Amino acid sequence: MTEDICIHPWEYHVEPFRIACGLYYVGNSKVSSHLIDTGEGLVLLDTAFPQTVYLLLESIRRLGFDPADLRSILHCHGHYDHFGGTKAIVELTGAKTAMGIDDEFILTERPELSWSPEYGVDFHESFVLDCPLRDGQTLTIGKIDIECVHTPGHTPGSMSFFFQIHDGRNEYAVGIHGGPGINTLTDEYLARYDLSRRTRSRYMESIEKLKARKVDIFIGAHPDQNDTLGKRKRMINGENPFIDKEAWPAFLSQLDAKARATFGTAADGFRPAP
Ligand SMILES: [Zn+2]
Repeated sequence: MTEDICIHPWEYHVEPFRIACGLYYVGNSKVSSHLIDTGEGLVLLDTAFPQTVYLLLESIRRLGFDPADLRSILHCHGHYDHFGGTKAIVELTGAKTAMGIDDEFILTERPELSWSPEYGVDFHESFVLDCPLRDGQTLTIGKIDIECVHTPGHTPGSMSFFFQIHDGRNEYAVGIHGGPGINTLTDEYLARYDLSRRTRSRYMESIEKLKARKVDIFIGAHPDQNDTLGKRKRMINGENPFIDKEAWPAFLSQLDAKARATFGTAADGFRPAP
């Protein structure tokens, strides 16, 4: 069955807003997209679905920006809900694309792994990956340095991003986990696409890898991961609930506990293969 957002995208509209400094939310109520004003052009983090591109472009404009100033589009991972809009936006703006190198094969060889079958849609929106990202790479775009951390599990090439934003007075470390979902780790999914259970141990290792990070503003690949919309509502009287050092470690602990509860302990679920 086709995912409802691909049929009634207008029902998922979210008024765009500034999270802090040059960081903005331009996603919908199902999938996050974030806009970073680098001071020398714009960076977009994920493009959601092809069907929601018009909402995304309108959100960018409503914030006073011009989509033509998009320089780069970064992707958390190679799933349809994060890159579906990319082809259209590249056609329109000429922005360069970046995604984890280990997810490039989804675009070129295994489109069925893009989760588009699960969304009940055909995959027609492949794009050319201009900048395949590797672990530890730093992308400098305008005045922003974006550190890329390979965090496989949800997909082979899931990429987490870390960068600093500042407004002259305050500076914040921003972080996003590029692939926290365990829906690609179930026995059923692994069997359907002939994938290895090793992805589960990779997933757990990725969580461990991210625990060392200090993050002031945790942003989600989906708005429910960090309660984007709830926090937006609580942005009153100068309060900014997005600035919360505890949100990142709390999220990682939740992921860890959920995966262990779902797939078992290290002894039977996550032992790395030899
Ligand atoms: Zn995904």
